Amino acid sequence: MQGIVLASGEKVYAQNVLIASGAWSGTYGKEAEYYAHMEGIRGQALEVQSDTKLANHIIKYNKGYIIPSLSDTYGIGSTTEKNVGFDNSATVNGFIEILTRARETLPSIENARIKRFWAGLRPAGRDRKPHIGKVPTIDNLYVAAGHYKIGFGYAPITADIIKRQILGEEVPYPINELTPRDAEPLNKKNKNKQNESNHVIED
Ligand SMILES: Cc1cc2nc3c(=O)[nH]c(=O)nc-3n(C[C@H](O)[C@H](O)[C@H](O)COP(=O)(O)OP(=O)(O)OC[C@H]3O[C@@H](n4cnc5c(N)ncnc54)[C@H](O)[C@@H]3O)c2cc1C
Repeated sequence: MQGIVLASGEKVYAQNVLIASGAWSGTYGKEAEYYAHMEGIRGQALEVQSDTKLANHIIKYNKGYIIPSLSDTYGIGSTTEKNVGFDNSATVNGFIEILTRARETLPSIENARIKRFWAGLRPAGRDRKPHIGKVPTIDNLYVAAGHYKIGFGYAPITADIIKRQILGEEVPYPINELTPRDAEPLNKKNKNKQNESNHVIED
């Protein structure tokens, strides 16, 4: 691997290449599709503001949560939507779903002001485990993708793993099962087996 070709046609040469483009990671040809196939699971969320205190702590309920910030705002989430392709739009349905559940749990939320409403595609591998590390069959090509619902938390250790592999340092974590791979889809048959892994991220 000597680099990448940009959409403009410009060639960028590099000693190492890391594919870390979330749900789009598998879209760069057949090797990327094989080693970094991702499904984009859309998630929508809201931020609201309230002059009166609505909650002092995180409230978690079926398919949702309300998270107070240190100021007067609250994060409210979220949807988990499959089969959306690469459509990362926020939708009316998502808005209604999130606020309906939030209001059932915390009725006073209806007096809050909407600050932001957004959507993103969570990158999910077929077996719902991250793909992290060197691509076995291509020199100098690495993948860091598939972090699904825990990408913020896994970011520092993912960066450490990739840095160590690129610099030829020992990786002191059990990451064999995260090696970029053609993952077997998670289904009823293999779900119990997969759940024995520490790395599976639940839907
Ligand atoms: C509503 C919602 C709430 C969430 N809450 C949490 C949470 O509380 N805690 C947590 O840990 N995680 C949370 N997540 C999950 C977290 O956002 C993801 O796990 C994380 O963003 C994945 O990081 P990533 O860098 O792999 O992919 P992304 O964040 O998707 O970043 C990939 C980037 O690559 C860019 N890109 C794609 N193709 C190209 C290209 N050809 N060239 C250049 N750039 C490209 C994309 O535009 C994107 O900016 C949440 C997700 C959503 C949607």
